[in-house]
Amino acid sequence: MKLHTIYNRIQREASLNKPLKKKIPAASRVTFDPAASAVHAETRAGRALTSEQFYQKIQQAIFEHRLAPGTQLVEERLVELSGMSRTKIRPVLARLAHEQLVTLIPNRGAFIASPTVDEARELFFTRQLIEPAIIKMLCERAESIDIKKLRQHVLKEAKARRKDDRTAIIRLSGEFHILLAELAGNAILVRMMRELTAQTCLVIALYDSLNTPACTHHHHADIIEAIEVKDVKLATQRMGGHLRDCENALRLESAVEAEVDLKSIFA
Ligand SMILES: [Zn+2]
Repeated sequence: MKLHTIYNRIQREASLNKPLKKKIPAASRVTFDPAASAVHAETRAGRALTSEQFYQKIQQAIFEHRLAPGTQLVEERLVELSGMSRTKIRPVLARLAHEQLVTLIPNRGAFIASPTVDEARELFFTRQLIEPAIIKMLCERAESIDIKKLRQHVLKEAKARRKDDRTAIIRLSGEFHILLAELAGNAILVRMMRELTAQTCLVIALYDSLNTPACTHHHHADIIEAIEVKDVKLATQRMGGHLRDCENALRLESAVEAEVDLKSIFA
């Protein structure tokens, strides 16, 4: 479905007062940092973001836990911070809503999505279906250059862990799974993994038990090792076990409130 079609549908449904999505839990509801108004003059003096840049900044901020679930994306503030017009911002919000990263609520606006416990479980169930298949494809086609790229990525993860850079750890952990899909050479799977990984970041932000900020580091190295020797059974088992451990590390009952630094996202 084209973006403008999605947005038109949202507008039409909004005018009919049909709720599009579930309610945002009050505990995780956050609004924009009011101090960010200072950015207004800077943005006007500089160049406006393109739609793609705007989309990537929001997605990246979700990846890095700088935009927490339930954060309200006030349109007026987005205009100030991005230098874009409302008519350009709305299709991007519609795209993010289509990817389940943003929830649009008629008469209230756009919010970073807050996946429910059921949605979190469905997400991991879906990843359990897709990712072993990606691993199988990789076992069949991975060359030494691919193994090298995966190992380089794991080195970056290790570096982030040594520096205790939580933002980088979360982002790199997610990107490892996207890189697997990229190396498997299927563009549709890459797109799906981007969406599923971003949704997982929201789930982790809501249900993380604080001590487990992201994927277990050695699991990634173990998966690479099995891909390298083309052991499909072992590699897919390791990926399945890894995803199960990620899910089990979450407290899928309690939501966590988080601070938002919106200004830094558009810096
Ligand atoms: Zn992982």
